[in-house]
Amino acid sequence: MDKVLIEVEDLKKHYHTSKGTLKAVDGVSLVIRKGETFGLVGESGCGKSTLIRTILRLLYPTSGKIIFEGRNIAHLHEKDLKDLRKRMGIVFQDPHSSLNPRMTIFDILARPLKIHKIVKNRDDMVLRIVEILKLMGLQAEHMIRFPHELSGGQKQRVAIARALMVEPEILFLDEPTSALDVSVQAKILKLLDKVKKQRNLTYFYISHDINLIRVVSDRIAVMYLGKIVELGEKDLVFQKPLHPYTNGLFRSVPIPDPDVKIEKIPLEGEVPSPVNPPSGCRFHPRCEFAKSVCKGKEPKLMKVEDGRMVACHLYQ
Ligand code: SF4
Repeated sequence: MDKVLIEVEDLKKHYHTSKGTLKAVDGVSLVIRKGETFGLVGESGCGKSTLIRTILRLLYPTSGKIIFEGRNIAHLHEKDLKDLRKRMGIVFQDPHSSLNPRMTIFDILARPLKIHKIVKNRDDMVLRIVEILKLMGLQAEHMIRFPHELSGGQKQRVAIARALMVEPEILFLDEPTSALDVSVQAKILKLLDKVKKQRNLTYFYISHDINLIRVVSDRIAVMYLGKIVELGEKDLVFQKPLHPYTNGLFRSVPIPDPDVKIEKIPLEGEVPSPVNPPSGCRFHPRCEFAKSVCKGKEPKLMKVEDGRMVACHLYQ
């Protein structure tokens, strides 16, 4: 699991607005290893979705590198991105809006095969579609249905199937269960786990749901206002979160594990705007450990104990 699949270096995605520069992603560096499940957690609006869309090159990065299997794809021209689109898939949060309501399930699943010229003829196409529907726990007869005829869980199964049609190496999963009923969520997670093992895939989950990230991930990163503040092995970070924000975030939800003991440190105040964010450590207006250095100097994401990375002056 140690082979690096994607390496992101100092990646930035900024937007110029009438109020100033919105720094949605502001200097993110991380590594995704082949075969792992990497989980990125943070409150809504922290830049998670922008980050994965930039890595996928659905958004053009402001600066930084995205190394995919040794090649920097950050500034590849649109016409050179076709191969990349085949190797990196995404499943969006809301299956109700991500599937075209005017297309049958067959057409939805056939489209990526046609775009990437993956099958020789229509018979091959039908075979592939029947096979993937079966893998997703759906029936061949679902091919002729339209999205509105399916339940939320069935639609998300189709969305996952669509992402898998081109046999990608990595799937980005953007809150894949948050639009679904609780009873369906566990089934979809189980299905994703089965597919990952069968196809030897790499997963990059993003979610604001800490318990979901805890269940699915091998390693996790915590994002705050466009930056990674802590990154490490899932068990270590959950057992003993080091960054004051991670600690506050984790204790804001009940962790269903008696071995996890998190000190009660309140996470107070609102998340500041990513337009003109606070100076120094962006968390300093909400941090009860803030020192004078925190306001003036931005802490770097540095390796601390047990191989984990933390961006906080308490550890530098
Ligand atoms: Fe708190 Fe300072 Fe650490 Fe930021 S750098 S989290 S303000 S102690």
